[in-house]
Amino acid sequence: MNKLLKLLFPPKCMLCGKVLGDEEEICSACREKVLLNTAPPRVEKGAFFDKAAAGLWYEGDVRQALHGLKYREKQSYARPLARVMAYAVTCKLQEEIDLVTFVPTNAATLRERGYNQAELLARELAGMLDKPCLPTLEKTRETRPMHGLRPEERRANVLGAYRLCCPAESVKDKRILVADDILTTGSTLSESARMLKTAGVQRVLCVCAAAARKS
Ligand SMILES: [Zn+2]
Repeated sequence: MNKLLKLLFPPKCMLCGKVLGDEEEICSACREKVLLNTAPPRVEKGAFFDKAAAGLWYEGDVRQALHGLKYREKQSYARPLARVMAYAVTCKLQEEIDLVTFVPTNAATLRERGYNQAELLARELAGMLDKPCLPTLEKTRETRPMHGLRPEERRANVLGAYRLCCPAESVKDKRILVADDILTTGSTLSESARMLKTAGVQRVLCVCAAAARKS
């Protein structure tokens, strides 16, 4: 049955739509694109995370794939995107981690969409890295969409918007990997990192599926 289903609905590359071979999650041409993002991990002045890295550039087909995951219920994209993130963790961050977590989303969004794409990515990624995935943060209030906001507006939008939702002892002195879909200015990740560090987290590493090129 599974074989017949595969014949009728062959799995396709989320980036270009090409039919995939067995065991393939992204086609070989698109895998090359992943390798093209050779940007080193971001270490930002004033940011509360220690390092942030991404697997792909947020443009073209990658942008479409991430929109699919976020707005068009393409939950199946989480696995190949997480694969790209696992690659970024291994090749770019090169750090030991104890657990994987994710950036929380608005309660209203979660009700409407039924899932948080950052959590889907974190769960797949944790499986690939063989680490536990733990929800650590929740929203204290709704935030506006970040799209179209200036850097200082982005920071203000998320300031104080998260709080710890797990026992402090489960994160204290840990090295935590925070997953999200898109790395833009890093203000969401920085604010998440600030809350985790306040709770006694030793190191906060961040990984996103894709990063926007700095303009
Ligand atoms: Zn492809």
